[in-house]
Amino acid sequence: MNQKSIADELGSLIKQAEEQVAYFQELGVSGIALETVLSSEVPEQLRSQSTRVARQTPAVRSTTSGPPFAHSTLGAVSAEISPGATFKRPLLSVAKEDLFGDLRPRAQEISRSGERMEQIWADIGNCTRCPLHEGRTNVVHTEGNHNARLMFVGEAPGADEDMQARPFVGRAGQLLTKIIESIGFKREEVLIGNINRCRPPGNRAPTPDEVAMCKPFLLREIAAVRPEVIVVMGNTAMKNLLDVKEGITKLRGMFQDYQGIKIMPTFHPAYLLRDPSKKRETWEDLKKVRDYLDSTAKR
Ligand code: URA
Repeated sequence: MNQKSIADELGSLIKQAEEQVAYFQELGVSGIALETVLSSEVPEQLRSQSTRVARQTPAVRSTTSGPPFAHSTLGAVSAEISPGATFKRPLLSVAKEDLFGDLRPRAQEISRSGERMEQIWADIGNCTRCPLHEGRTNVVHTEGNHNARLMFVGEAPGADEDMQARPFVGRAGQLLTKIIESIGFKREEVLIGNINRCRPPGNRAPTPDEVAMCKPFLLREIAAVRPEVIVVMGNTAMKNLLDVKEGITKLRGMFQDYQGIKIMPTFHPAYLLRDPSKKRETWEDLKKVRDYLDSTAKR
């Protein structure tokens, strides 16, 4: 090969290398670290041209701008240049899940914390964290099977619950017991709790501040037991467990997710006592829960 054809060949290789750089920049990569082994077989002219390309473009690792996927976990791109080689578009060694890692909200999954319920209740103690303690008779803790596959969460204790220190023991509670049995569980096989543990005056809904004080203990219980499904009953329970704007009428019957746990929103039994025509829909929702639990292995 004469001097001119070598120079032409090198010129063409440099052009292709520059196209590669432009291609990466289109992808949002603003730099390429060339981990090229420039051996003595590579002519001097090519070595100096190649290092010029590398210097023009800062290493990917130091990149701070561009689309999220480009500077999340993109590793440095290596290119090996050998005279006479035909350039192929280099393969980016990016794991599929990393491509969208920064864009797609990653479902956080909790595993069982191993905490004992008794420890959580001891931490609650004779609670005075929010004003609801002033009107209460008893703190009403979550009740039932500490190994439950299924949990029910309501709003806050009513008068009967406040007196007996047990959740869902009044009229709404009796209906809840029937609902639980209608899908083949005994009440003592499931877990039953509330967002708040002290009865609000006149059975009003707890305020956001009151919820903020009490909910962390419910979340610790959920993490301790890690049920497979949680049925949230009514708007207060649903909105305080899930970050949703829609009301219960919109979301009921549709499985939601809370840290890897399936959440089924449905009507509150107290609402069913006021409007029995809604029992049909509640039954439909609970059948979905039963079918799901039937489809998963029993503990
Ligand atoms: N309503 C609730 O939300 N919780 C109870 O414990 C009783 C009635």
